[in-house]
Order: sequence, then structure tokens, then C-alpha cells
Amino acid sequence: GFNCGIVGLPNVGKSTLFNALTEAALAESANYPFCTIEPNVGRVPVPDARLDRLAEVAKSQKVIPTQLEFVDIAGLVRGASKGEGLGNQFLANIREVDAVLHLLRCFEGETAHVDGSVDPLRDADTVETELLLADLESCEKQYEQAAKKAKQGDKDSIAKRDVLGPVVEGLRAGIPARNVELTAEQRKTLKGLHLLTSKPVLYVSNVDEGSVATGNSLSQKVEERAQQEGAGHVVISAEIEAEVAQLSDPEEKQSFLDDLGLSESGLSRVIKEGFRLLNLITFFTTGPKEARAWTVRNGANAPEAAGVIHSDMERGFIRAETIFWQDFVDSGGESAAKEAGKMRVEGRDYTVKDGDVFHFRFNV
Ligand code: GDP
Repeated sequence: GFNCGIVGLPNVGKSTLFNALTEAALAESANYPFCTIEPNVGRVPVPDARLDRLAEVAKSQKVIPTQLEFVDIAGLVRGASKGEGLGNQFLANIREVDAVLHLLRCFEGETAHVDGSVDPLRDADTVETELLLADLESCEKQYEQAAKKAKQGDKDSIAKRDVLGPVVEGLRAGIPARNVELTAEQRKTLKGLHLLTSKPVLYVSNVDEGSVATGNSLSQKVEERAQQEGAGHVVISAEIEAEVAQLSDPEEKQSFLDDLGLSESGLSRVIKEGFRLLNLITFFTTGPKEARAWTVRNGANAPEAAGVIHSDMERGFIRAETIFWQDFVDSGGESAAKEAGKMRVEGRDYTVKDGDVFHFRFNV
């Protein structure tokens, strides 16, 4: 699976948001399987109206959405890169996630801010500086090692050195590794270096209850920063999300959101944006037992998608029978879609499209 680490300074609302995410998942768990692996890790079902339509048409008994994992990474303070506070543990936790959800306080609130005033851009810089410093230290070391081996003609080391050079230069100038200009090939090498600033970032502005539909002047500044950096941005109120999460009745939930001027919950938007940021797509399987959504990286071929379901299906892959979800629904089900000529038979080179409904044929 794919995961997203929630980072931010103390008292910005991380635990409130994390609890809301997992509460929402629990509220849905009557319908969906849900599990907490560790206290700070929650798997959250990804809302998808297409899946619900497919399940209806296929008359599936169970609906199983795909999931995104969120990790509450507490303990970041100024000086973390020097090992202060829970610094090292914190940085190790970030190293393991696929994307970073950077929560920024854009509300006044009763709990004091650790730095005395509310300023999301300053906070963003504080957190980013710690990550930059940690990366700089590790990249300088790795650069020296790679440069030595590169001299002896080692190919991997040459590739590493050529990536680390511009990355170190960027980090020294305050540019996170994700924003350093590199070729597609170099990006792959960069990924293997497990840096903190090379992961995609989603800024989440946590605003006061009154500003949740419109945002406020602080979240506006975050929006500008996100646009400049090519990062994602979502405005939420963690406290309101905590309230929404308590409502399990969909109609009650929708009318609560309507009253706030929202078309969907902030959590839905966070999850969707996380998906976009991680460059993930969804495919489906349907049957009378269950309709299920699965996640795969954008660009994956058919056997790779089969492998998400079971490694045997990838190993013994023969072909994929595919109906696009809209055709499946419009035709009124699988056999009708087949009769209408909407089913395609695809081989191992087929690139999976977001919304494909699959039957995989494989040798055991
Ligand atoms: P953490 O230290 O980042 O995990 O922050 P918490 O989730 O513990 O939140 C810190 C304080 O801010 C708590 O008193 C929360 O009730 C409050 N808080 C969190 N989100 C919001 C919000 O959206 N609006 C307001 N007004 N207060 C919030």
C-alpha cells in the first residue's frame, strides 16, 4: 500500500486530524474492513462514487474501497535535524512514507502556538529547514562516497554523484530535493536516496470553523506558496472534521456539510489530493460477492495491476479482460457490456487506465 505521513509543529492540529481520519474510517467499518496497525497508523477507505455505482449494477454483496495509509508523525521541533527532542525518530519516520502531508496552523485557537504567534509560512519554513538540514548532511556524505567510487569508473556511483551534485547545491540554497531540476532517469536515482525533501508535499491549512468554506488570509498565503512550489493544498478545519467523522449516516453527514457550505468533507479532499500527489490510479474488480477498488501507480501495465491482487496472478498472467467502468454501468452490467462490444482483451503491455474494470486470466 501507499502512505502519507502527517507532519507539523506541535499544536497545529495533527492529532485532531489523525483522529478524525481514523474515526471516519471506524464509522464506515460496518461496511468496510478497517484496521489500525499501530496507534499512529490508520488505513482510511478512499471514497469513490464509481465503486458504489459498479456495486449497484453488479449487485455485489460487499463493497470494498481501496485504502490509503496515514501515519501521525509527532515530535518535530526546531533542532530536530541536530537530534534534539525526538528529532532522529521523527526523521526516520518521514523517510519511510511515500508523501508528506504538512499541516499548517491557520487558526488562532485557545492553545498557544509554540512560537508565540500564528504564522503558517514561518512554520512551513521551520519544518522544511529541519528536513533540508538533515538531507544536506546525508547528501554531502553520500556525495563524497559516490565521487570516490565514480573515479574508479563505477556506473551506479557516477549516476549517484551526478544527481547528488545538483541536489547538494540546491539544498544549500534552501531548495528541497523535489524541486531540483533533474531528468526522468535522475529522478529514479533520487528516489533510491530516500531523502526527506524529495517526497511530494500536500500542504493542509487548518483554519478556524468559520473559514472552512472560504479559507482565510493565512490559508491564502499557503495557497500561493503551494502554487509556487507545485505542491498540493487543501483547506480544512480539523475540529469540524472530527465532528463530521462522528456522523455515520450519509444524509446527516451531507446536510451537516451543506450547512457549512461544503460539497464534500475535508477528509475526502485530503484523500483525493493525496492520491493525485502520489500519482496513483484506481482499477476495479466486480462480482456478485464483492465490488472492490484497487490502487496501482499511474503507468503500471496489466500484469502489475494483477500483482496488486495476488502475486500469483502477476506471475501466471495470461491476459486481462477489461471494461471501462462507465461502459459497465451504462450497459447495466458485465454480460450486457460484453454483448455491446465494450469488453476488450488486453495483453501484458497494456497500460492500466484509471477506472478499468478487470478480469485477469492467469496460470496457476
Ligand atoms: P498537535 O500537537 O499538532 O497534534 O495538535 P492537536 O491536534 O493536539 O491540537 C492542538 C490544539 O488545537 C487542541 O487544543 C485542538 O483542540 C486545537 N485545534 C485543532 N484543530 C483545530 C481547529 O480546526 N480549530 C480550532 N479552533 N482549534 C483546533
